[in-house]
Amino acid sequence: MSVFALLRCPVCGGCVALSESGKSLVCENRHSFDVAAAGYVNLLAPGKKNNAVAGDPKEMVRARSLFLASGAYDGISDGLNRLIGEGGVCVDCGCGEGFYTARAAEQCEVAIGFDASKHAAEHGAKSARRTGQTNLHFFAANIFDLPLKDGCADTVINLFAPVAREEFLRILKPGGRLIVGAAGRRHLMGMKQVLYDTPYENETNDLSLEGFERLRRETVSYVTTVTGKDVIRAWFTMTPYYFRTSREDSDKLYACDTLTTEVETDFFVFRKK
Ligand SMILES: [Zn+2]
Repeated sequence: MSVFALLRCPVCGGCVALSESGKSLVCENRHSFDVAAAGYVNLLAPGKKNNAVAGDPKEMVRARSLFLASGAYDGISDGLNRLIGEGGVCVDCGCGEGFYTARAAEQCEVAIGFDASKHAAEHGAKSARRTGQTNLHFFAANIFDLPLKDGCADTVINLFAPVAREEFLRILKPGGRLIVGAAGRRHLMGMKQVLYDTPYENETNDLSLEGFERLRRETVSYVTTVTGKDVIRAWFTMTPYYFRTSREDSDKLYACDTLTTEVETDFFVFRKK
């Protein structure tokens, strides 16, 4: 299946096709989007609302991929893949650098990652090229205004990212599934115990979404140990605590050579009504 047959122009909603040169995507109304050398396409429509948000900068993408290579979050990805099963056309909305998308692609006909950061999309596309995953594609796009046709997706995954409920309903086939992942109650408790004198558990919500039937809730939880100051620092920069922690408290974590912590993700599986 050509991934381009699933796309629509982010400017006018028209059908898009690869140009003869293969260097751009062109819509029926002649809006044109360059295919970057790395293989991703920037489909953030210029001038449209919300598209000025550039998403994660390059350093953040690099830090995340350094950490994810440690394998510490493989268990989250394994849990997600169990829930996905055979994913058909699987769309990862807010995919970051594509770690979960790439692993989901192993059991999907086609996997497409969208992220507001073109650096993240670039990283995902380069990895897909390196691993030879020809069914895996990345685009920079606004997940609240996806460049996808109506009713084209079997599965939408949405991890640690804003939930674009209406847009997910639009792109899913009838009966298609949405899998939302959010930080669980004890997620990163070990990290917080190093950082803070009185660490609190995370607040979690019991998610329900209009237009969807909730099929199940599943918590994936385990303890992991990560070694190496640079990896621990990269991990910290991915968390919300990075922005809220004093220098003094952060230094306690930076001094650690190993870090052991709970990792916990709440998954919610929905079916489009
Ligand atoms: Zn167009």
